[in-house]
Amino acid sequence: MTGKQYKSMKPKRPIEEYINFDPFDGDKESGKIECKRVKVVKILKEQWCCESDHNIPKGSWSRFESAKYDGEWSKWYHCCDCIDKYLDEWE
Ligand SMILES: [Zn+2]
Repeated sequence: MTGKQYKSMKPKRPIEEYINFDPFDGDKESGKIECKRVKVVKILKEQWCCESDHNIPKGSWSRFESAKYDGEWSKWYHCCDCIDKYLDEWE
């Protein structure tokens, strides 16, 4: 295969930048957060992007966060495209 690499083959920034990105920006401060885990994954099935409410197609790179929030397990996906958009505005 020649030419441009398919967009979602890998995220455009170093993985740490997605991990360090805090999509909630302190929103969750009111609740108790435990066992927080963040990773950047290539999703194997369609997920919902919490950043701007859309479907993330399978095979896309996404920031995945899971945590116990006020005693309840929750998980959130934020696609790398949305994070890129957000970070681009800040640069
Ligand atoms: Zn998104």
